[in-house]
Amino acid sequence: MSEPHELVIAGSGVAGLSAAVYAARADLAPLVLEGDEPGGQLTLTTDVENYLGFPEGVGGMELIQRGKEQAERFGATFEHGRIETATLDSDPIKLSLAGGETIQTQALIVATGASARWVGAENEEELMGYGLSTCATCDGAFHREHDVLVVGGGDSAMEEALFLAKFADSVTVVHRREELRASDIMARRARDHDAISFRWNTELEAIHGSQTDGVTGATLISHSDGYPTEQVADGVDVKREVVDIQGVFYAIGHTPNTEFLTDTPVELDSAGYIQTQTNAAGRMTAKTGVDGVFAAGDVADPMYRQAITAAGTGSMAALDAEAFLDSQTSEQAVESDQLVQ
Ligand code: NAP
Repeated sequence: MSEPHELVIAGSGVAGLSAAVYAARADLAPLVLEGDEPGGQLTLTTDVENYLGFPEGVGGMELIQRGKEQAERFGATFEHGRIETATLDSDPIKLSLAGGETIQTQALIVATGASARWVGAENEEELMGYGLSTCATCDGAFHREHDVLVVGGGDSAMEEALFLAKFADSVTVVHRREELRASDIMARRARDHDAISFRWNTELEAIHGSQTDGVTGATLISHSDGYPTEQVADGVDVKREVVDIQGVFYAIGHTPNTEFLTDTPVELDSAGYIQTQTNAAGRMTAKTGVDGVFAAGDVADPMYRQAITAAGTGSMAALDAEAFLDSQTSEQAVESDQLVQ
């Protein structure tokens, strides 16, 4: 096994890159494991207009590429790699990567993000980022005077619909049954909005359009008993309808990328998000509660999930990791002094 790294950062989205810039500037020579989705969720969006410092907006890919160059400039290195299992209570920490390699590190920042769930509709892979989106805050402003669909029935779907209603002519919430999962207050706000309507017992079967023309329409399926996709699978007839729309937003939840932490002492909430700790003064930190393991970005944030907040927590994780590594060095110095005496 090769020599331990001082710091490994798992994930190369905004949080991982921000942590890498801070850690590299602190001379920690971080190794960034890029994961299965190098660059994270921003690579699925076209233009980012709400990231500070880009008055004309910036492409999601470009923002990520610039962040990577910035981190490399200060000495961060990048490797393709996904952690499959982790032994976190050993010193150094041991990480087994998909592919068989095992690496060691004194500290770990987990910035593996959360993946928006996809519906599975026809053409979604081709049109993601071209009129199909998983983030209204990121892409809503491209749909001024458009007719758009939001898929989902939870708080996120209501929030996305309400945000989109600021720009779009009409927002149709497509929900697979006839009762919302959303909280009463969010549901009421959406129901009371003139530009928002609901299609109950309905699911999205296909999205129409191209990367050149964007989204031009969608095929919806519905059944009075709900869950129309399951009805189709059971051979039951469903109603099919093609609608003219220019945008589709998925809001059916996110899955935090924390599978490799399931059997470790890192505390996860019921949805699998990492629970970060407060310090003695009750202030937020990026610490996970396991010595030397820190978390940043959406993997620890089911609430805000913005690029700018991910960048902020990335810098926090790097600062916390730096302090941890400094304290380890001081402890070792004291121990070797005691041995000499
Ligand atoms: P969620 O509560 O899990 O809701 C997901 C919705 O998507 C459900 O309505 C579900 O339908 C639907 N869905 C799931 N898989 C689907 C599929 N394959 N096809 C079609 N529809 C599907 O997720 P969320 O809305 O992202 O919220 C996550 C958490 O964050 C919640 O605790 C929520 O309260 C919180 N949150 C709060 C706020 C706020 O307070 N401002 C905003 C956003 C999120 P079913 O209902 O039939 O299962």
